[in-house]
Amino acid sequence: MMEPIVQYINVHKSFGDTHVLKGIDLDINPGEKIAIIGPSGSGKTTIIRLLMTLEEPTDGDIYVAGKNLWKIEKNGKKLPANEKHLASVRKDIGMVFQHFNLFPHKTILDNCAMPLIKVKKMKKNEARDMAKQMLDRVGLGDKYDAYPSNLSGGQKQRVAMARALVMRPKIMLFDEVTSALDPELVGEVLEVIRDLAENASMAMVLVTHEMDFALEIADRVLFLDEGVIAESGTADEVINKSDNPRLQNFLKRFR
Ligand code: ADP
Repeated sequence: MMEPIVQYINVHKSFGDTHVLKGIDLDINPGEKIAIIGPSGSGKTTIIRLLMTLEEPTDGDIYVAGKNLWKIEKNGKKLPANEKHLASVRKDIGMVFQHFNLFPHKTILDNCAMPLIKVKKMKKNEARDMAKQMLDRVGLGDKYDAYPSNLSGGQKQRVAMARALVMRPKIMLFDEVTSALDPELVGEVLEVIRDLAENASMAMVLVTHEMDFALEIADRVLFLDEGVIAESGTADEVINKSDNPRLQNFLKRFR
């Protein structure tokens, strides 16, 4: 058996009185590609924000590469994570958001080189070389010196992916990365994700409304409904063959 790269163990998350995640148990294998589907408000974004350490679980544990994200485990005791611990676990995780979160006053190249310089303490030249390689990979080899405001939404999203990829994460998280894009720009972004799914060895978790895309690239699809994983299986099992009425009802919108 492979050691899972990610493990959620009975994870709960509440915001005030709103109980958003109600006991999530989930193992993700190294290299596995997972799509999370489900109605708006079901907790999809919260699941991946927890993994990115942008939110802390109310209860339960999340392990990444064997390390508890939120707790320092020592001699059978669990102590609250400090910034140093969080920084070390974050190194394995990359995330791309719906809105690109690029630095507007930096060139595309500097946007991508910066995390290597700041977090990995890499030399500037070395960082820029790596950033160039990633920008080439996402098809932006001719845009090193452009600023985010000069790019289309699809190009910005590809920069955001390159910026996450330079860190060589073991897991990449994609939160509805195409939903803020004009329809004609969706394809170029999906194409990059498809290339990564086929050729990169990292695990990927995508929150997506692109059912055909999920069918095409996901090893496993999770249907999240009111804070629980209501269905889990191959894309074909979940999207084409499940008789769960709530899932059927959700999928109607995409047919
Ligand atoms: P989804 O991604 O499936 O649409 P989310 O994970 O974004 O769902 O949100 C699930 C629920 O949690 C929603 O009801 C949302 O309003 C609530 N929620 C998410 N983040 C916060 C927050 N920071 N504060 C309060 N409520 C939140």
